Amino acid sequence: MNASLEKLVAQLDQNRQQFSTPCYVYSIEDVANNYRKLKEKLGTSLIYSLKANSCLDLIVRCGHIFEDGIEIASVGELNLLPRGESPRYINNPSADKSFIRAAIASKCTLVVDNLFQLEIIREFQGKRPIKPLILRLNPSTLDQFVEPPAGTRKDHFGLSWKDAIRALETCKEHGLDVAGFHVFRGSYSFAKLANSTAQAALKIVEIFEDSLGYPLSLVNLGGGFNSNWENENFDFDQYRSLLSEFPSHINITHESGRAIMESAGYFVTEVRYVKSIEGRRYGVCNGGMAQNFLLAKTESAFKRFSQPLILREGSVVKPEEEAGSCFLVGTSCNKEDVIGEVKGFDVKPGDLAIFSHCGAYNASYTVAPFLSLPSAKSYLME
Ligand SMILES: *Cc1c(COP(=O)(O)O)cnc(C)c1O
Repeated sequence: MNASLEKLVAQLDQNRQQFSTPCYVYSIEDVANNYRKLKEKLGTSLIYSLKANSCLDLIVRCGHIFEDGIEIASVGELNLLPRGESPRYINNPSADKSFIRAAIASKCTLVVDNLFQLEIIREFQGKRPIKPLILRLNPSTLDQFVEPPAGTRKDHFGLSWKDAIRALETCKEHGLDVAGFHVFRGSYSFAKLANSTAQAALKIVEIFEDSLGYPLSLVNLGGGFNSNWENENFDFDQYRSLLSEFPSHINITHESGRAIMESAGYFVTEVRYVKSIEGRRYGVCNGGMAQNFLLAKTESAFKRFSQPLILREGSVVKPEEEAGSCFLVGTSCNKEDVIGEVKGFDVKPGDLAIFSHCGAYNASYTVAPFLSLPSAKSYLME
């Protein structure tokens, strides 16, 4: 058991009534450690991608941790965030005029997804100060510089190469400053693609600087880190030496959501009833897919359910050999609402199921209220 889980178990034992289940519990210490470890390994800046977890209390308490900035993808997220000192980037293909206006007004850096957004930004020119722009490049723009990786899926984010060149011309012609560019090749892609991304980015820096006639200040190489990136055997020394080839006037950054948040969050739900149908045992919980959609694994072909820790009257229940197993189910009337599996014993009413690795996307990627079910509360571990 790691330190934050041990702490959570102790707090649930001592102050059971302080936690209303179902709930998420986040460890600020884990967020800080995850952020610092990854940033140190990369040797670059590291931007936090807010959509992974936008719990307000947590973000406010983590403001000082995310020293290199936060990336925001919606007006909702923008309004949620208190104004801090660290940079904020807004980035969304569908960002419209009112979102862009709000972003400029609150001094965000705009990441331009398409030429239409650039036209909107031009309308605000001269009316409000606009921070130097970042151009978001579609991953396909890299393929002319490095061998395109087999089996990568196309996506719709950012500018095509042709549009990127036009964007540079427009910016130059109208005196819109460009800080640099941003490319993101998708979640989980880092170990496989980071080196080729950096190699292509080196060439793109030259082309951008030639075209603009002034030096860039920022290159965002994306991310796509697994939450267990430390066990992937990626050669960070070699990667850092590749990054040292970038001109020293450029601030290199990466961005991450999952690797910073996933292991820092727990989901806790209480078993209400236990029943058996045709030999299959179920623990019916007070939380399920309506509060933690990802646990139901609706998007995987072969479901391997998470195995929560079970806390009974303050102690962790230990599995016994040969004993049965049961499925934990939620509250939603949806037959997909199976959120976990307990092996080696049967759960009992009143047991608490603690799911680890629920800090990224579990709360934010849970669909809007269904059956008017209550949403999960959120707590911070002290
Ligand atoms: C969602 C997103 C991320 C974060 O992805 P993780 O897999 O959570 O690290 C980073 N960059 C962009 C552009 C994104 O849209």
